[in-house]
Amino acid sequence: RAKTDITRSICFYEKDMDARVKARRAMSADLRDAIAHGQLSVAYQVQTLVSTGERLGYEALLRWDHPRHGFIPPDQFIPLAEETGLILDIGEWVLRTACEDAATWSQPLTVAVNLSAVQFIHSDLPKLVRDVLAETGLNPRRLELELTETAVFSDAERARHLLQEIKATGVKVALDDFGTGYSSLDTLLSFPFDKIKIDKSFIQEAHVNPQTIAIIRAVVALGRSLGLSVLAEGIESAEQLHMLDMEGCNEGQGYLLGRPAPLKQLVADGAITLNPQAPAHGPMATV
Ligand code: C2E
Ligand code: MG
Ligand code: MG
Ligand code: MG
Repeated sequence: RAKTDITRSICFYEKDMDARVKARRAMSADLRDAIAHGQLSVAYQVQTLVSTGERLGYEALLRWDHPRHGFIPPDQFIPLAEETGLILDIGEWVLRTACEDAATWSQPLTVAVNLSAVQFIHSDLPKLVRDVLAETGLNPRRLELELTETAVFSDAERARHLLQEIKATGVKVALDDFGTGYSSLDTLLSFPFDKIKIDKSFIQEAHVNPQTIAIIRAVVALGRSLGLSVLAEGIESAEQLHMLDMEGCNEGQGYLLGRPAPLKQLVADGAITLNPQAPAHGPMATV
């Protein structure tokens, strides 16, 4: 009996695997066409000073509107894009789109772009950054690249070199999701980051677990002593914002301050105004 049960469950397991593999294959085929079919877009989420609410810039967040499955969150398709190598084209598209967009804004706000470890390792990122800056005319000081620890993990020597080359263009580099990796302190000390982004899990746990406030306090102190800005992610409540202000965390991002939105909407809401000479493909180009 036991044996049949096991055999049966193995069969189910294999069927299940088969379905999953098929679904992933279908999804990566769809993703391959997504750029060409205009299904990818970028949403922008505001980043502000915690103490005054002054707006500093926006983070570009990738969106996929699938024709049949609807909106698919990046956490679901980026790993697939990384496995298939599609992230190289997609990541380049996001960087170019974000820089093109930001170059049309009449205020000199920053734009932050997420980079995958795969892009960092398998493409000539410094060249891409230089090319995109030259094409779009965006002031390098307005661009910030967000990396997670996985990007600098596999080959520290090469990563250090790449970061230095990227920073030589005048672009800033932020360490994203800080506190969720394995060797956060080590990473921070050995690479020339400009900013630490404290992962949203710490901000959201602070009211249930006061010890996380001690961690936030320590990261703020660390940032200060290394001369880095510290941004808190995932701020959803006025209490969280107040706590971060008390702890001296200088920058913030989260639903309380603004949800990610398409540029078109930010322009319609009056949050962003465009240069009068914005290119014709811009959302509200006036020509
Ligand atoms: P991330 O870079 O840490 O981005 C922050 C994520 O937190 C975003 O999720 C954002 O929508 C979400 N968020 C912002 N404020 C709040 C809040 O107050 N509460 C909560 N619960 N969430 C908040 P999103 O857009 O789903 O992106 C998830 C992750 O996907 C990003 O995390 C980033 O790692 C990755 N990602 C997004 N766009 C790109 C991209 O263009 N390239 C690459 N390589 N990765 C991307
Ligand atoms: Mg990010
Ligand atoms: Mg993050
Ligand atoms: Mg993340």
